[in-house]
Amino acid sequence: MIQYRLSQKFPHDSFLQVEILIKPTKADFEVKLPDWRPGRYQLGNFSKYLRNFNAFDKNEEPLNFKKTNRNTWLIHCEDEECIIRYEIYTSIIDGGSTFVDEEHWYLNFINCMIYQADDMKQVHKVHLDIPNDWEIACGLKKEGKELVADSFYELVDSPALVSNKLQHLEYRVQETNFHLWFRGNADLKNKNQILDDFKKFTAYQIETMGEFESKDYHFLFQIPDEKAYHGVEHLNSTCIVLGPAKEFNSETFYNNFLGISSHELFHYWNIIRIRPEEMYPYNFDKENYFITGYVAEGVTTYYGDLFLVRSGVKDLDWYIDELNILFKRHFENYGRFNTSVAESSWDLWLDGYEAGIPHRKVSIYVKGALIALILDLKIILESNGEKSLDDVMRKLWTDFYKKDKGYSSEDYLKTAEEVIGYELTDYLNKFITGCEPVENELKILLDQFGFEMELKANENSITHHLGLKINEETVISIAPDSPAEKAFRIGDKLIGINKQKFEEIQDVIHFEEETSYSFQFFRNNNLREVTIKTENGGFYSRYILKGNNDIKEDEKIMRKKWLNV
Ligand SMILES: [Zn+2]
Repeated sequence: MIQYRLSQKFPHDSFLQVEILIKPTKADFEVKLPDWRPGRYQLGNFSKYLRNFNAFDKNEEPLNFKKTNRNTWLIHCEDEECIIRYEIYTSIIDGGSTFVDEEHWYLNFINCMIYQADDMKQVHKVHLDIPNDWEIACGLKKEGKELVADSFYELVDSPALVSNKLQHLEYRVQETNFHLWFRGNADLKNKNQILDDFKKFTAYQIETMGEFESKDYHFLFQIPDEKAYHGVEHLNSTCIVLGPAKEFNSETFYNNFLGISSHELFHYWNIIRIRPEEMYPYNFDKENYFITGYVAEGVTTYYGDLFLVRSGVKDLDWYIDELNILFKRHFENYGRFNTSVAESSWDLWLDGYEAGIPHRKVSIYVKGALIALILDLKIILESNGEKSLDDVMRKLWTDFYKKDKGYSSEDYLKTAEEVIGYELTDYLNKFITGCEPVENELKILLDQFGFEMELKANENSITHHLGLKINEETVISIAPDSPAEKAFRIGDKLIGINKQKFEEIQDVIHFEEETSYSFQFFRNNNLREVTIKTENGGFYSRYILKGNNDIKEDEKIMRKKWLNV
């Protein structure tokens, strides 16, 4: 057993003091701090937040140790027990961070707990030195102020929210108690609505997947006063940071609140349990490259929204709007011609969570969701509504998770092929490992459910005609093969068009095709002028989805099978 004690020397301070009692397996043994956290597939280098590492024997005599790489310490201890002490600096609240102050502790053990590299499956106990009136919201077993995990894997996949100011709602679906914990200034005046909606999508998800293994599940909500949107899935809980608190009861906030919660809950099955083989189990010591981000995040993004409409929490118009948001993000990204979703998944470890260089890659969330949509519609049509992507996910659950193994990209495709009844090589080559446009396939499929896809020009005249996206006066994006590409670079600051002040003319100017315009702008504080000739325009256009007004009877039936509306 490994025992941790967490305390704060000064409750107002940003540092968390950690003490660990460990039983060395040999005289020279290694301890490590994880280098990344599940849910964010890039190195986190958490050791940079750690200071004052020291090791002692049971008589408090200092032990020799050395750091052998950025997150590993080699300790020499001939005693049967070793004490390790260090401090962790906490300053950020996001979906995966640790934060302590005098009002609450928000603990993601993955970024602050050192582990014994050769014995991760022992019992891990954590004692929290907290005031007596603080409540602990956490998926782990609790004994007073102590949390107990059966392994390091369980410990770090079970974050905790601890405070005497938590608001708590609870509902039950089948055999499971679902807890909603709120930290921050969330006004829960509509709690009946919240409980109603959560109950509906939870029940629908469990019914769809057929099984929920945990007796308790915890939604841990941080509701900061600032704008925030971030969620991370865990073993039997999720951390969701959503702000600003003052907008908690606005329609947009509430829809985001439902959307992110439904998404994170579906991760209970998809990735927490149905997991890529490359991460089964997780290796916290290095990159865990995998190409199936389109399943882990794409399918989850698709289902997060889909479950809200299928369970009756949201209506069809809302769902169409959500698909249009995905369309906008996908079709305005020229990276879709350059990098496949499989390669973009691999590159998560490179720059998956930042904008990255222009038009290099696609989002595993966005393109992943669109190709999940394609697959779902194909299966529904092929089986005449008898089957769907649900069957693929259920089959992955029984064939992989239940057999205690992870799946590969081939396994996913093979499972889908077994459900649909024909080979999906074409789907794989075009949409997973290839960069074929998705719109042609989507148009044909959606038409059979009574939906139309229409190409819509970008609303901004400069963007549409020149291929230039501007924020205030600064160039932020340039379309490949556009007139703008010949003259501008990111960061240029526009001050005039045809010698008229840019800020006055930008919203009223009407560009003609095949016409020359002069642009005055600053590049690195140097005034420049360039003449650009427009062509046919059409840059940054996107498809929009519309429901057909004169929907046919057979389309109505298929739509019902797909969306339950
Ligand atoms: Zn996710």
